[in-house]
Amino acid sequence: MKISTITNAAYGITVALTALAGTAFILSNRMASEERQAVEIRMALEDLGAQVETDAELRTDEARLFVMRGDPAHLSVFERVTEEEHRLEALAHRLGTLGGTEDEKALLEGVAVLADQLEEIETQAIEAYRSGEREAARATLFGDAHYTLHLKLLGEIGRLRKVIDTRTGLELQRAQMWSDWLGLTARILLGVTAAVFLAVLYFVLRRRVSLPLTRMAGVVKRLARQDFEVEVPDDPRHDEIGELTSAIRVFRENGLERERLDAERRRDLKMKNLILQLMYRMQACQTVEEVANVVARFCPQIFPELGGAFFIRDDPRTSLRAVASWDWPEGASARFEQDQCWGLRRGRIHQSLRGNADVRCNHLPVQEGISTFCVPLNAHGDTIGLLSFVSLSADVSTPEDDRAYLGMIAENVALATANLRLRERLTHLAVRDPLTGLMNRRALDEALASAALEEPEPDLTCLVVDIDHFKHFNDEFGHDAGDAVLETFATVLTDAVGTRGRCYRFGGEEFAVLLQDASSDTARQVADLVRTRAATARLEHAGRILGSITVSVGIADNRDGRKVSTVRTRADLALLRAKETGRNVTVYEDIGVEKV
Ligand code: GH3
Ligand code: MG
Ligand code: MG
Repeated sequence: MKISTITNAAYGITVALTALAGTAFILSNRMASEERQAVEIRMALEDLGAQVETDAELRTDEARLFVMRGDPAHLSVFERVTEEEHRLEALAHRLGTLGGTEDEKALLEGVAVLADQLEEIETQAIEAYRSGEREAARATLFGDAHYTLHLKLLGEIGRLRKVIDTRTGLELQRAQMWSDWLGLTARILLGVTAAVFLAVLYFVLRRRVSLPLTRMAGVVKRLARQDFEVEVPDDPRHDEIGELTSAIRVFRENGLERERLDAERRRDLKMKNLILQLMYRMQACQTVEEVANVVARFCPQIFPELGGAFFIRDDPRTSLRAVASWDWPEGASARFEQDQCWGLRRGRIHQSLRGNADVRCNHLPVQEGISTFCVPLNAHGDTIGLLSFVSLSADVSTPEDDRAYLGMIAENVALATANLRLRERLTHLAVRDPLTGLMNRRALDEALASAALEEPEPDLTCLVVDIDHFKHFNDEFGHDAGDAVLETFATVLTDAVGTRGRCYRFGGEEFAVLLQDASSDTARQVADLVRTRAATARLEHAGRILGSITVSVGIADNRDGRKVSTVRTRADLALLRAKETGRNVTVYEDIGVEKV
């Protein structure tokens, strides 16, 4: 209820109570004046009654004195009293006007009759005295008949006065009682009015105004300090303070919303910053392993509540291999087939929420209550890998908005990885011989050139290996069979050299081996091993046995002041000497021919 309604109601009540109290006071005053009137009437009637009684006595006394003494003074008093008969009439009139009862009027009439009878007797007696019948007059006035009538008259007058006295006494009592009761009522009503007024004042000021305002002041102070956690009391009333409370609640809700949006904006900024850093680092990466390292470093910062792994699609192209992981559950597969992942199958982010709301990928460990995300890495129109995430605890819920961040990360990781793989493939194509898979002449030239740039030069030994009479294979078995021989020999050469050096195919059937920090003995041992294994290698093509090969080897190094820039030419020269010597031999420059 509104305060204005309460105060209006209280105002109405106090006005009504005040009017009632005023009415009671007016009535009380009226009753007091009625009381005064009753007192006056009573006194007047008493006076009149007493006068009538006195007149009756005086008239009889004066009549008796006159007949006894003959003094005309007594006669004149008697006559004056007799003439004053109007006292009885005045009494009758007042009784009539003041609501005298029928009994009183009957009594008064009786009194008047008796008074008339007595007056007649006394008048006759006086007349008799004047006419000389003095004794008879005295006998009449002092006789029993007069005496009895006189007593009766006085008795009736006494009764009349008593009846009037009783009635006026009761009326006076009633007027007094009403006056007192109305006065008391008026005072009580005034008291109630004052109490209502004070109660409303207390209620309005303390309960409805002071306390809520004090509470609101505290809330507003905390809101001013940006403390939006403060609880705004629930005040459903429909008054000004209720409206104030609603306004403060709206203000607080706006503040909370603003804080939430601020927090979201800050988080968004932080996420985008981290993603930008991740992108910049990836752009500078030179290998996929470096990309994996960068991803494993930044993803836990971007999504601290998620563990994850970065998978690359390998050859054969249906399997994926983990190249990096962070907070990754134990027992999760590091390699799995493409069709085990629903994200890869569907070609989009696949999320398995808590409670297994969606199908779970088979390559992820089954753990109740955790959420998983599989984000395929697509670039250059191809799926090149996968980013998998798992929630670290059951109560983590990843917001829907994070899908956008996941998408951004996945796009950039995919692009960086695809670019690096493309670069690796191009580099591979540029420096590898497509037939044997060995490094080509360009790679050999670059290796020798970069070694020549070093100061001091690294200790290098170069072996040039040429298959003897290779043309014969082409001529006899065809070019494809020749290719098969070249492939087989490349494998023989790689196996024989092992980790001791790098193998190159730099011409048709000409190969080279670079050994670093190898002694001449070691170089010779490697050459001999190559020749021995070549001679015993099983050569076949399309089910046909192709016979066997021998190779000639020329060796040169850059020791004793010789330069690396000429090492291959010198090895070539040694090889030429080997060919001239009759093939299937090793020639170490300056040392001579060695035959197995
Ligand atoms: P020598 O003992 O003097 O080295 O005799 P050779 O026959 O091995 O040497 P020659 O230089 O006369 O012949 C080399 C042959 O190798 C010529 C060429 O047809 C062949 N050849 C070069 N490259 C390839 C290739 O990639 N595949 C095949 N099948 N043959 C090749
Ligand atoms: Mg040759
Ligand atoms: Mg040859």
